[in-house]
Amino acid sequence: MSIEIRREACIGCGQCADVCPGSLILIDSGGKAVIPNPERCWGCASCLKECPALAIEFFLGEDMGGMGGRMRVRRENSLLHWDITKPDGSLETITIDSRDSGMY
Ligand code: SF4
Ligand code: SF4
Repeated sequence: MSIEIRREACIGCGQCADVCPGSLILIDSGGKAVIPNPERCWGCASCLKECPALAIEFFLGEDMGGMGGRMRVRRENSLLHWDITKPDGSLETITIDSRDSGMY
């Protein structure tokens, strides 16, 4: 389980580095986010939810039943749209209202 940062999309805001509980993300000399040790990522998804540029993708490996799918998060006010691109290229979106997160 890990993330991948799309360098070409990153705007260098540093929000992902600020929220990562493991301090796994750094801003390099080119002003872009990098994750030097992606194997240490435990998939909390905090960085995905903070990235304003959709530059971070979550890799859904076999261990999560994802079989190589990828996931990004779009924020729209309190809504989080989890866009999942499946291995066959099809797209599925799951929308969650973050105001409901305390209900469970
Ligand atoms: S998913 Fe969580 S642990 Fe992994 S890099 Fe992002 S913020 Fe850090
Ligand atoms: S939050 Fe997104 S845009 Fe900002 S530094 Fe991280 S990857 Fe780049």
